[in-house]
Amino acid sequence: MDYISTRNSSNSFKFEDVFIKGLADDGGLFVPKSLHKYSQKDLVEFKNLEYKELAKKIINPFIGDFMSKHDLSKIIDKSYSVFRKKNVVEIVKIGDRSVLELFHGPTLAFKDVAMQLLGNFYEYYLNNENKKINIVVATSGDTGAAAIDAIKGKKNVNIFVLHPNNRISSVQRRLMTTGKEKNVFNIAVEGSFDDCQNLVKEMFTDKIFANEIKMSGVNSINWARIIAQSIYYFYTYFLIEDNKEPINFSVPTGNFGDVYAGYLAKKIGLPINKFVVATNQNDILHRAITNGAYNVENVAETISPSMDIQIASNFERLIFDLNEHNDKKTIDVMKSIKERGKYAIQKENLDKINVDFLSARMDENEILSTIKNVYEKFDKVLDPHSAIGYGAFDKVKLKGNNIVLATAHPSKFPDAIEKAINIKAELPDELTFILDEKENYDIIDNNLNKIKKYIKERT
Ligand SMILES: *Cc1c(COP(=O)(O)O)cnc(C)c1O
Repeated sequence: MDYISTRNSSNSFKFEDVFIKGLADDGGLFVPKSLHKYSQKDLVEFKNLEYKELAKKIINPFIGDFMSKHDLSKIIDKSYSVFRKKNVVEIVKIGDRSVLELFHGPTLAFKDVAMQLLGNFYEYYLNNENKKINIVVATSGDTGAAAIDAIKGKKNVNIFVLHPNNRISSVQRRLMTTGKEKNVFNIAVEGSFDDCQNLVKEMFTDKIFANEIKMSGVNSINWARIIAQSIYYFYTYFLIEDNKEPINFSVPTGNFGDVYAGYLAKKIGLPINKFVVATNQNDILHRAITNGAYNVENVAETISPSMDIQIASNFERLIFDLNEHNDKKTIDVMKSIKERGKYAIQKENLDKINVDFLSARMDENEILSTIKNVYEKFDKVLDPHSAIGYGAFDKVKLKGNNIVLATAHPSKFPDAIEKAINIKAELPDELTFILDEKENYDIIDNNLNKIKKYIKERT
């Protein structure tokens, strides 16, 4: 499979470039040049596969000659052996909807599903190529922990994680900062997640710096993550489908990565009806999808910090799709967003978006009361992010089988859970040690040069 950048559709890239670079040199996002669509018959063959086998089938065409089928198979088995569930995810019924639990990996959020695979892709690549790289990544709390767990202790690779200081939960921070491996560096930036994301983008676009440190990225724009995340949409679809009812997914959304992975599954043939883009009060995507106003506002801190984002990086991929892969138009839109903080989606494009995507927004009280209602009625504890996905189906009423993505384990956000239902959300036993362990991180100003200097001194 060949890839192009959303900002230049004439140059082709291979999966290796796409994976290692993360972001294209022109600032665009990598997307496949064209996609093969599975037929109804192909899908029937997928239907009874275990999670790992399904992943092997679907991921293989995306990675081309990056590795053999045999190596891919070994890597997928290894990556998913660290999950607490044999089939990686678990589907439970809560009331009238199904809840897809994606948090049974080592750091208790769905980010593990893609990141464990990426960690092993890096190891494979670095062993074969005898290269050394430095991963730099911004996190709103969960990506960082998942990336660190996937990379810690691996040879020829360091990882630098930027998180917004004091704006993530202490359990989220402890999952990142309590490791002892020498190749892990945590930076708490005095700023928001968007600031962290911008700093990383600036470092990537500074070619001299990026090449000097052999910089690589695992942010949610990394196409390899999108592919890995599309698997659970297939897996869940096959378990739920009954051939009569339409199937809808509600996806707690920040950077538009996870929901884009679902949309990718649909584009390659999985007949999903609608995606509900569920946001917290940082609702740029909700405003965009309901009335076309993609207008950047200030980020508010909420009890669902992994979604405290205003600039939804992966949205560029949808913009590119809407403009029929026209790179010039995509560049214009991205320029308008960057310079004026605004993009008015035309009616025609908005109609196209609404064929696949609806949206809902949940404020703090609505999130807390959803956690409370679900607990009182069904004796289940949802974390604040998953509660947003759950509550979104009360706002956007859809017929059929409604599936909510549960993106994090409630114990990652104990304060919010305590506030909602006055109980302590306990960590799984194997992780309680992080509560007493010494933490390692450095607080640095929101200043590009200081952060570059810090990284350079440690590579
Ligand atoms: C990252 C994250 C999200 C948002 O996912 P995107 O891919 O950025 O839309 C939602 N919930 C949790 C718990 C997360 O960690």
